[in-house]
Amino acid sequence: MNTQITAPFKKQLLEQRDSLLAQLASLRGGNVGRAQASAEHFGNQKEDSRAQLETERDLEFTLDARESAELDAIDAALKRIESGSYGVCTDCGTDIPAARLHAAPETPRCISCQDKLEHGRRA
Ligand SMILES: [Zn+2]
Repeated sequence: MNTQITAPFKKQLLEQRDSLLAQLASLRGGNVGRAQASAEHFGNQKEDSRAQLETERDLEFTLDARESAELDAIDAALKRIESGSYGVCTDCGTDIPAARLHAAPETPRCISCQDKLEHGRRA
């Protein structure tokens, strides 16, 4: 794909990246707030308070892992734009339909490979 075709996808990816980073920052802020509230609530029971804080930390880590996986997908798509391999399925080499790229510009696979991957995960 030439840069004229990939330009709108690149813009979309960069916008997605920005809003994801903003989302991550606000999630992180929200978790700190909840953890502090829990610490106050369990102020008289030190052991419980520590357990609660660990749960909050686990939650934060889970959210981070999911958001950063999405961020990785976006970064990988931007790299594919730079290298000229954007819009081609990373698994089978087929051109990914433009409609699919518009719906999910970070997608590295065609629908059939994505289906196979998701089906494989479930089985
Ligand atoms: Zn494919």
